[in-house]
Amino acid sequence: MLMSALKPLGELENAAEFQARHIGPDAADEAAMLSVIGAASRRALIEAIVPASIKRSQGMQLPGVATEAQALAELKAVAAKNKVLKSYIGQGYYDTLTPGVILRNILENPAWYTAYTPYQAEISQGRMEALVNFQTMVTDLTGMAIANSSMLDEATAAAEAMTLAARVGKSKSTVIFVADDVLPQTLEVLRTRAKPLGFSVQVGAAAEAGQSECFAALVQYPGVSGEVRGLQALADAVHAQGGLLIVAADLLALTLLKAPGEQGADIAVGTTQRFGMPMCNGGPHAAYMACKDEYKRNLPGRLVGVSVDVHGNPAYRLALQTREQHIRREKATSNICTAQVLPAVVASMYAVYHGPQGLKRIAQRVASYTAILAQALGERVANGSAFDTLEIKTGAATEATLAKAVAAGMNFRRTSAQSVSVSLDETTTRADLAAILAVFGLSADLAAFEKGVATLIPAELQRTSAYLTHPVFNRYHSETEMLRYLRALADKDLALDRSMIPLGSCTMKLNATSEMIPITWPEFAGVHPFAPHDQLQGYAQLNEQLTGWLCQATGYAGISLQPNAGSQGEYAGLLAIKAWHESRGDAHRKICLIPESAHGTNPASAQMVGMQVVVTKCDKEGNIDLADLKAKCEQHAANLAAIMITYPSTYGVFDTHVKEICAMVKSHGGRVYVDGANMNALVGVAAPGEFGGDVSHLNLHKTFCIPHGGGGPGVGPVCVVADLVPYLPAHRSAGYQSETAIGAVSAAPLGNAAVLPISWMYVRMMAAEGLTAATEVAILSANYVAARLADAYDIHFSGNIAGVKGGGVAHECILDIRPLKDATGVGAEDVAKRLIDYGFHAPTLSFPVAGTLMVEPTESESKAELDRFCDAMLAIRAEIAQVADGVWTREDNPLVNAPHTAESLLKADWTHGYSREVAAYPVATLRRQKYWVPVGRVDNVYGDRNLVCSCPPMTAYE
Ligand SMILES: *Cc1c(COP(=O)(O)O)cnc(C)c1O
Repeated sequence: MLMSALKPLGELENAAEFQARHIGPDAADEAAMLSVIGAASRRALIEAIVPASIKRSQGMQLPGVATEAQALAELKAVAAKNKVLKSYIGQGYYDTLTPGVILRNILENPAWYTAYTPYQAEISQGRMEALVNFQTMVTDLTGMAIANSSMLDEATAAAEAMTLAARVGKSKSTVIFVADDVLPQTLEVLRTRAKPLGFSVQVGAAAEAGQSECFAALVQYPGVSGEVRGLQALADAVHAQGGLLIVAADLLALTLLKAPGEQGADIAVGTTQRFGMPMCNGGPHAAYMACKDEYKRNLPGRLVGVSVDVHGNPAYRLALQTREQHIRREKATSNICTAQVLPAVVASMYAVYHGPQGLKRIAQRVASYTAILAQALGERVANGSAFDTLEIKTGAATEATLAKAVAAGMNFRRTSAQSVSVSLDETTTRADLAAILAVFGLSADLAAFEKGVATLIPAELQRTSAYLTHPVFNRYHSETEMLRYLRALADKDLALDRSMIPLGSCTMKLNATSEMIPITWPEFAGVHPFAPHDQLQGYAQLNEQLTGWLCQATGYAGISLQPNAGSQGEYAGLLAIKAWHESRGDAHRKICLIPESAHGTNPASAQMVGMQVVVTKCDKEGNIDLADLKAKCEQHAANLAAIMITYPSTYGVFDTHVKEICAMVKSHGGRVYVDGANMNALVGVAAPGEFGGDVSHLNLHKTFCIPHGGGGPGVGPVCVVADLVPYLPAHRSAGYQSETAIGAVSAAPLGNAAVLPISWMYVRMMAAEGLTAATEVAILSANYVAARLADAYDIHFSGNIAGVKGGGVAHECILDIRPLKDATGVGAEDVAKRLIDYGFHAPTLSFPVAGTLMVEPTESESKAELDRFCDAMLAIRAEIAQVADGVWTREDNPLVNAPHTAESLLKADWTHGYSREVAAYPVATLRRQKYWVPVGRVDNVYGDRNLVCSCPPMTAYE
C-alpha cells in the first residue's frame, strides 16, 4: 500500500539536516566507535571525561535551527541593510576589481582557503611559491631588501615597525614621531601599542620629522590627504637624531613614485588591499612589512625562504622560525601567529596577473584622472601634489557637500570642518568624475581625456627604477596561462579538500560552502569601514547577533570582534585586565603567570602589554602543578595581575582542578585569562565565563569554521565578564568612543569583518543542539583515535579513566614518539614526513611537548577517514618495528627518507634497502589515489644559512 510509505512530515522537513552534513560520523559509526572505546553511549563518555564541576548550568539560548537555504536567506536580509555607495573615502581602503580568475580560483577555492599554515614545507610548496611572489612584489615596489608575508593590517604593521625600530635602533629616546597626515586609524593603534611599552607618541607636520630626538619617525607616502612628499630629507634628519624612518606606503602609488628604499627608509609598511581584495568593511587584507637587510632577524611575522630538498632541488620553507613566539616566547619579536595568507596570495596573484606594465597602466590612469579632477576643481584643491587623493576646500559647505555626495550615491571623506577629500581608484570612470564634479556644480574638461594630462606627481619623485622583472610577473597574462598557474600551485599542496588535517590545537574542521558563500556578497565585501554608520546597519546587526550568540557559547557578558587573530585577542584581553587594575590604583600589578605548556603567543602577548611573565610548572599528567602555582601566587600576591591558562589544557586534558586554580589566582588579586583556542571541546558542554574565566579569546578560525586560508585570515574575539566590559576596545577613528575602553587594536572597528558571516552561518545552521553535538563528537572522535592507537603508541597525557580505552582524552591526543626515537632513531618528524607518503598532513609536531605528535580529528571527519588515518599510523608503527628488528637500518628506511617524490622513485639506480613499492604504496588504497609530493625533505638549516626570500632566478630550476 502506498499509504504506509508516508513518513511524518517532520522527518521530510528536516531543518537540522546541516548538522549531519557538518558532523562526519553517523549513528552507526558512532556506535562502532563507542564500542572500540568501551563506552556505553556518547553521553556516558562525555560524563566520564568532562568534570562534573565545570558543566554548564543551562543550555545555550540560541535561535532554533535553520537549513542552509533558510540561513542564507536570513543573512541576505541582514546584508541588505548595508548600503553600498561608491567610495571615495580612501584612508587606506579603495575599491578594486578582483580579477574573476583570482576570485573563483583562489578566494572561492577550497584548495587555497582550507590549507593550513605551511609548517609542513613539503606539502605547502604551492602556497609558499605564492608567498615568495608576495615578498618579491613588496621588496620590488618598496625598494627594500626583504619583506615578510604577511601582517594583519596596516595599523598593526606600523605598530610592529615601531617595536622593531626600538629593538634594532641605537637611539636611547623613547619618542616616536608620527606625521599628522598618517592614516588616523594607524595613529590610534600606534597609541594603544605605544603606551604599555612606555613610548611617547609625538605628532607633528611631516616636515618636522627628525627635528627633535626620536627613536623612529613614521610618515605616510602619499599622505592621507593626498600630498606626495619626498622622503630623503626626512630620512637624513631622522638618522641624524639616531632614529629610523618608517614609511607607510601605498603599493599602487609606488609603481609611479620613487621607492622608499631609494630615499633612505629603514622600514616600509602598508596594506595590499587595493591589489584585488574588496574593501570588506575593513578586512581581511594582507598588510606588509619590509626592511633593510640588517634587520631581517628581527622582522616580525612569517617569512618564506628558498632552501633545497635532500635531492638538491630548490624548495620553499618558512625561514628563521627561531624568531617566532613558538620558540622565543616572551622574548619573541612579536606575538603574530595567524597572519593574512589568503589575502596575501590574492594580492600577489593580482601582481602576477597584471604584471609591471598592467599595474603601471592602472596607476597612471588613477593619477591622470586625479589630475583632471584637480584641473576642474581649480582653486578649491588644497594639495600641491597628488597621486590619487585631493583635499578639497569646502568652507562652510562641508556637511552640505558630504550630504549631496551621499544623495548622489557617493561617500567623500570629511577631513576637517572646512574640507573634504576624494580618493580615486582603479574602478573610477569618466562618468564617475563627472558625478563627483557635479556635486561641486562643475563639469570636467572632456578634451583633457583625449589630450592626456600631466599627473600631479612631483618630477623629482617620479619612479625610474624597474620592478617585477622576474618572469613570474611577466608570463601569466592570458587567462588560460593564469588559470593553469593557479591550478598547478594548488595541486602541489595538501589542504582539507584532499584529506583530514589532524592538527592538535588548530581544529581543522569543515568550512562549509554555504558558510563561505556570503563573504563575497557585495553588501558585505563592497563597503568601506569608515562609511557613515547608517550605511553599515547590516554589519551592526551581524555584530550584535554574533556577539550575542558567542556570549551564550562562552558564558561571558561582552565580546569585541575587533581583534583579527587569536594573538590580538590575547593582547586586547590582557590590556583590559591591565586597565581594570589601573582603574583601582593597582598599576603595579604586572605579574602574569603562564604554565610551561602554554602556546607561545601567551607569553609574547603578556610581554607586549608590559606584563612580566612568571612560568608555572605542570605535573606529569599535564595538569597545572597546584603546589607550584600556590607558591607563585603567594610569592607574587602584591603584584599579581593575571594567569593565562588554556582549557582543556594544551595537553588535551580536562584538569579537574580548574575551578580551584581560578579561585586561587583571584584570591591573590589576579584575574583569569582562559585561552579559548580549545573551545571546540567546550561549546555547549562547559563555559569558561562560568567556571572561572574573566577573559578569553576565541579563534573563530578554529572552533567557528572560518578556514585557515593557509595561515590567515583569522578572527580572535575578546570575551569578558561583566565588570570588564567597559574595557573592551574602542575605535575612535570609526566613531566608536568610550571613556574607559582600551584603544583600538585593529585598523578597522570590526577587524576582519567580511569573514564574520562564516561563523554566523555556522551557529545559525547548527543551533544549540548541533553545536553541542559537534563538541561531543569531537571528543568522541579524539577518544576513538586514542583507543585505536593506544596499543601501538604511548598516549602521552590522558585522564586514566577506567574502562575507557586510551585512558580518556579531551578533543585531541598526544602520541609520544620519544621512546621509539630512543630505540630506533625514528622520531616524530620522520613519522610526520612519512605520513605525507600515505597522503596525510601531519598532526601538530613537537607542541606542546617536543618529540610528540598531537592529533585533533574534529567532529567533521567521517569514521572512514579516521580509520584511514589510524591505519596509516599503525602501518607506520609496523615500519618502525622493522627498524627496531633490524630489517631496515637506522640510516636507510622509508621513514627517515620520507617523503618520497616520484622522481626519486623513478631513478634508474634504486639503492635503498626497501622497495619502491614500499616507499610509494605502503597501503593498498594508495594505488587508487595518491598524493605525489613535489619535493623531498626540505633542509631548514641550509635555508637559514643562505637566506633568500624573493623569487629565485629561473636557472635555479635547471
Ligand atoms: C592558535 C592558538 C593561539 C593563537 O591564535 P592565532 O589566531 O594563531 O593568533 C593561541 N593559543 C592557542 C592555544 C592556540 O592554539
